[in-house]
Amino acid sequence: MVPIGSQHDHHHGCADGACWAERATDALAEAGYRRGGARASLIALLDDQRCALSAAEIEETLGTAGDGARPVARASIYRILEELEALKLITRVEVGQGLARFEAHRSEGHHHHMVCDACGIVIPFEDPELEDSIQRLARKVTFTVAEHDVVLHGSCAECSA
Ligand SMILES: [Zn+2]
Ligand SMILES: [Zn+2]
Repeated sequence: MVPIGSQHDHHHGCADGACWAERATDALAEAGYRRGGARASLIALLDDQRCALSAAEIEETLGTAGDGARPVARASIYRILEELEALKLITRVEVGQGLARFEAHRSEGHHHHMVCDACGIVIPFEDPELEDSIQRLARKVTFTVAEHDVVLHGSCAECSA
């Protein structure tokens, strides 16, 4: 199991249109949503993350945008998250106690999550063997597996110390 960093090294070249932010922007426009404004800010923020953010973290960042951008209200954040989720552009990660986090749904960098039930930290991890097991299982059951999402609950190193 490989824990991965929290920040995604960005600006890896989006020339071929494979970039998530571009795909999300186009999909929203195609669905009839207005470009720019709060949607653009939220897409840029999610595109910059290696892993999932809570709505509160998103609000904290966009609500205090210092670089000339207008702060985004909580209601708009929830509405845009719903739009993005309906278009399958983001993944909702349920972290327990009714709390959810949201991350860009990318084909590359597929990973799962460990959630500390004591402090709430979310640690992303990748595990090729786990992926193989899920695929093997998918071939055995009379069920078409479209997606999977694994969340391990427990306590992080700090909280178990
Ligand atoms: Zn994640
Ligand atoms: Zn913890």
